[in-house]
Amino acid sequence: MGFIAEFLKEFSVSGILRERLLKLDAEIDRISKENIELKKENAECAKKLREVSEKYKELVETCEDFKEYKGALFKRRPEGGYHEAVYCPRCKIAMSAKALGSPFRCFCGFTTHFNKIALNAILKELTDN
Ligand SMILES: [Zn+2]
Repeated sequence: MGFIAEFLKEFSVSGILRERLLKLDAEIDRISKENIELKKENAECAKKLREVSEKYKELVETCEDFKEYKGALFKRRPEGGYHEAVYCPRCKIAMSAKALGSPFRCFCGFTTHFNKIALNAILKELTDN
């Protein structure tokens, strides 16, 4: 019950006007509840937008720093060329190879299709392209 219904308790108002005021009161109540729900929804959307914006910023930074090649990531040097390391496309951290003939592996389970022997040729291909 809203303030109009409270008001009508204390004053004598004709039947039709009373009915209209009660409808208006119900409408105000419905709009107030809807307003509360929309504010809640808006706050959730704003929170999600902040999260997505942060993720987008990270991805843009990652795209600028790394180049994907042969399924792995290679990090650009500011002065040109690439670091002599292979990065996991999932974790964005440097991976290691146990031996020259072994592929690079990440702790997350990602494995490259090339081994450490091929790294210099790959870095040259990347720099030349
Ligand atoms: Zn990984």
